[in-house]
Amino acid sequence: MPEFRQNMVSKEWVIIATERAKRPDQFLQKKEEKKPLPHYSQDCPFCPGNESKTPPSLFSIEKNGAWSLRVVPNKFAALQSHLTTERRHEGRFLKADGFGIAEVVIETPIHNRTIATMELEEVRNTVTAYRERYISLSTTGKIDLITIFRNYGERAGTSLEHPHSQIIATPIVPPHVRNPLYQSQLAFDTFGDCIYCGMMEEERRQQTRVVEETNYFLVLCPFASRSPFETRIYPKIHRSSFASISNEELMELASVLQKTIKRLYIGLNDPDYNYVIRSAPTEDNDVKYHHWYLVIVPKLTTPAGFEIGTGIYINTTLPEECAEFLRGIAT
Ligand SMILES: [Zn+2]
Ligand SMILES: [Zn+2]
Repeated sequence: MPEFRQNMVSKEWVIIATERAKRPDQFLQKKEEKKPLPHYSQDCPFCPGNESKTPPSLFSIEKNGAWSLRVVPNKFAALQSHLTTERRHEGRFLKADGFGIAEVVIETPIHNRTIATMELEEVRNTVTAYRERYISLSTTGKIDLITIFRNYGERAGTSLEHPHSQIIATPIVPPHVRNPLYQSQLAFDTFGDCIYCGMMEEERRQQTRVVEETNYFLVLCPFASRSPFETRIYPKIHRSSFASISNEELMELASVLQKTIKRLYIGLNDPDYNYVIRSAPTEDNDVKYHHWYLVIVPKLTTPAGFEIGTGIYINTTLPEECAEFLRGIAT
């Protein structure tokens, strides 16, 4: 029997179409789709020796006289940092200059690494850079929202092979982000606590969608997953902003993130994916109603007409089965 499920925060619906259900292992990616990459590529702007092909570093981590990680301004950014944030009308239409700050985190000097195959130190450097840049960007007065994300593979929207993440800071909080904030605020006004903390309590009670629980994090496939193997990492300590993550939590986040990506890498044979850190807008840095988290979306299906038409995603895989499958993978 197919069923509708509701995302308890955003109130959005998904359809879990069990009639057409696919077993998790049917999403196994074909081996031949990914060609092995070289350790170093002369033409790659992110490989060592090609530093002049990118703007100077905004932040870097060094070891033995060489860089282990660099953060640079994005040369091909859709938004530019020298513009104004002023909104203007053109007749009845609203517009503004394309102000924003876009940065690239070059996670390692080694061309053919990926989160799943990195040394833990490289993942630690990566999440450290996320926090450093997040904090630094949030002091920029014109910024309202800082989005940290990683596009991995062509289906996830990247053509650059070298391991990297991106950070984009915008002066705009769009409805897609505002709506869950508004809903969680309403829930706080009604029930007096954080809806995400409540959801985690329920997930812990039901256990079926939990992939892993550590000291500081809960990894799960959400009840109303929009697509197969959607996986989220929630901090167990209530914090609305990623900026307030402690050192100890940050180090644990690195291992939890790597382990979760490794489960997908091993279980589904290195699928393309996007992951995003969803954190409160900078003006809501320390609120009781919102809770930051990281969401990983493997690119295994393509949204089609019904999804575009309704915003209701049809998911052909049970989140409970995905969680069970991921739990069973030795990392
Ligand atoms: Zn490279
Ligand atoms: Zn919370």
